[in-house]
Amino acid sequence: MFKKILVANRGEIAVRIIRTCHELGIDTVAIYSTADKTALHVQLARESICIGPAKSTLSYLNIKNILEVASNFGCDAIHPGFGFLSENETFAKLCEECGITFIGPSSEVIALMGNKKAARKLMLEYGIPVVPGSNQEIIDPPHGLEIAKEIGFPVLIKASSGGGGKGMRRVFHEHEFIDAYTSAQSEARVNFGDDEMYIEKLIMNPKHIEFQIVADTYGHVVHLCERDCSIQRRNQKMIEESPSKALTPSLRAKMGQVAIKAAKACHYENVGTIEFVVDQQGNYYFIEMNTRIQVEHPVTEMITGIDLIKEQIRIAFKQPLSFTQDQIKINGHAIECRINAEDPRHNFMATPGKVERLHLPGGMGVRIDTGLYQGYVVSPHYDSMVLKIIVLGNNRLEALRRMRRVLEELVIDGITTNQELQYFILHHSDYIKGNFTTGFIEENLDELVGAIYEK
Ligand code: ADP
Ligand code: ADP
Ligand code: MG
Repeated sequence: MFKKILVANRGEIAVRIIRTCHELGIDTVAIYSTADKTALHVQLARESICIGPAKSTLSYLNIKNILEVASNFGCDAIHPGFGFLSENETFAKLCEECGITFIGPSSEVIALMGNKKAARKLMLEYGIPVVPGSNQEIIDPPHGLEIAKEIGFPVLIKASSGGGGKGMRRVFHEHEFIDAYTSAQSEARVNFGDDEMYIEKLIMNPKHIEFQIVADTYGHVVHLCERDCSIQRRNQKMIEESPSKALTPSLRAKMGQVAIKAAKACHYENVGTIEFVVDQQGNYYFIEMNTRIQVEHPVTEMITGIDLIKEQIRIAFKQPLSFTQDQIKINGHAIECRINAEDPRHNFMATPGKVERLHLPGGMGVRIDTGLYQGYVVSPHYDSMVLKIIVLGNNRLEALRRMRRVLEELVIDGITTNQELQYFILHHSDYIKGNFTTGFIEENLDELVGAIYEK
């Protein structure tokens, strides 16, 4: 097994990776920016080193410094977590060249699936349903408009290199198209350094359903069922659950096979996610593949009992999968709430600051993944997600009640978070009935924010 792993990330995911490494008897090296000197991941790792200033381009994205540290500290592998360098093909390639194992798929696969338009094309070739959309190059905004007319409004303009819900615009009418295209494209240029765009039919009132897949070096590919990630704000997930109320066992089996086929199409290795939107009629369409561990992976871990980080490490060490598809069973129902340092009353504006008081709930079926502690200062430099609550119940109702209880018990004083918003969503009749699509938060925002003000 690997002796020492460098964790090229921060926050709750760095903490979560370090925990599994130590359970496996693997030593860890944490890297941190000057803003994260006292962060939890730094305290938990066996060794740690500062790699640059707060700005992530100079620290957590500083490939040269990270590789130098990995080599100097004698690390045999690097775990990139999610975000940052996790889907950076250059980084994966340089790791390979330096003889350090990148815990994830090969740089070629990252490159292929990282371009969402290219991934779409590959899936089409393999007969996997994709959202109707543009497959040709878009020369300029008027050309885009022509294509959009062929597809038929409403459409969704998307960036090929997009991620985190950025570089996307919904367009309902022809006359809005040019402006929307231009602004989505400039957002893509600024955020991803790539302004290639594509256009998809906008699926109305869809559910976001994704499948976790696990693939080893020997061609074994298994799916670990779905996650329903339809509760989103700005196309970014906020609550996830598994199993999804929207899938029948036969649809689950069918989509699971499609997900496996998608993974095989790109010769995938390691853990990954195939994302679909599912329309009101139960038609499903591939939207993208995430070639990394995902934020919401604990939901799958809770219902399957499989430690996905452990699997990532085992696969990267060329060990075969330790289970077959037949051995995967859904045990109960899991829900995750992402707690973000943001203010839902003010357009989800980030709210960094000092955590004055912290109480983390516990009890049966409760898991909390976080980098927070009392006195911790949430930095304005990084993502606003600071804590994840994951609960497991014997069924959905039990999980839902457990999550409400945990949200009542959780205390984070000093900073504003979306905790109350989460609480009111968990009490909303449509959420309780499983009657929700990706527009849920937007459609109910006034009511939910009203409830926060009244409290
Ligand atoms: P998930 O499906 O795991 O929730 P997200 O797309 O929400 O995936 O991204 C996970 C994390 O990575 C989030 O913190 C998000 O802000 C960040 N992220 C994703 N893609 C990018 C990107 N292209 N550039 C910068 N950050 C990204
Ligand atoms: P990102 O890389 O930012 O995660 P995705 O392609 O996964 O981008 O899309 C993010 C979200 O946008 C999805 O979870 C879904 O809610 C919505 N979405 C994406 N494509 C479509 C579509 N064609 N129709 C309707 N909604 C979509
Ligand atoms: Mg996505």
